[in-house]
Amino acid sequence: MTNKIDYLNGRHYVAGHRGMVGAALHRALINRGATQLPTRTSAELDLRDAAAVRMFFETERPDYVYLAAAKVGGIWANMSYPASFIYDNLQIQSNVIEAAREFGVRKLLFLGSSCIYPKLAPQPLKEEYLMTGPLEPSNEPYAMAKLAGMSLIRAYRKQYGCDFISVLPCNLYGPGDNYHPQQSHVMAALLRKFTEAVQQGRTEVEVWGSGSPLREFMHCDDLASACLFLMENYSSEDPVNIGTGTEISIKDLALSIAQATGFKGNLKFNPDYPDGTPRKVMDSSKLLSYGWAPSISLTKGLNSTLISLPGFD
Ligand code: GDP
Repeated sequence: MTNKIDYLNGRHYVAGHRGMVGAALHRALINRGATQLPTRTSAELDLRDAAAVRMFFETERPDYVYLAAAKVGGIWANMSYPASFIYDNLQIQSNVIEAAREFGVRKLLFLGSSCIYPKLAPQPLKEEYLMTGPLEPSNEPYAMAKLAGMSLIRAYRKQYGCDFISVLPCNLYGPGDNYHPQQSHVMAALLRKFTEAVQQGRTEVEVWGSGSPLREFMHCDDLASACLFLMENYSSEDPVNIGTGTEISIKDLALSIAQATGFKGNLKFNPDYPDGTPRKVMDSSKLLSYGWAPSISLTKGLNSTLISLPGFD
């Protein structure tokens, strides 16, 4: 287990600190009292460049690393840019993990995703169901990269004795999400669509697919809290699911967002867009058994995220 005092006094590098998850980790560390947090924006440090990453680690010497940098996006983005989703993520994670080994990082946390489970795995998804069947085709390249990242974590533990761990979050949302109309995930996309519809007095909002897929949503501040908990209390090659255990259909999510935004018009489901995987709810009993539990309900998280929405052009 990680020594608490040493941990908070250490140097923490959150790779991807300007993304939603990285920013939540950064906030959580500062709230907990960490003061040494070297950062680089993607303009300052291209994590796909191995030499640049190595130089950064040599200069900043982080003790604890949170690998939240990744090319991410919703179902449309994954289907439109499959090569970038696998190439960028393979490069980023390989470079950061190798540099962390070379420069003696004390502990590293790698963020995987619930989308790496087989498309038709039994539900709720238990960690042991990984790699037992074919992946959902819409995000297979992204999932392959994340599976490779978890394999790197296991291999570096085994060969070098590095204290590196992997976590698998469910669908995430919160402040700082990507609100791009096409490339975002469903929560951000619908928050934007309904807010704009109300502002512009429109009477219809398009929801992709059938509305029947089931998803599990967690606020990014709960995820950050779970990650810090695991950094202090967990050390194993086995990945840990991080979810709320509560699922909601896309239709019900859309209705909740309609209500929260005050939208009174109609939902138009567009079957020309794919549903993706029919259901992905995770079994998070392992994490719960260690003594961590989420604290932000979907209603509370949705309302606070709504208040924090940026202006849209
Ligand atoms: P996924 O969880 O990997 O499938 O990624 P998404 O968050 O992009 O999509 C989740 C589900 O929401 C899929 O069934 C989408 O078809 C559906 N969905 C409905 N409306 C939208 C939308 O406006 N944007 C996105 N990204 N998904 C939507």
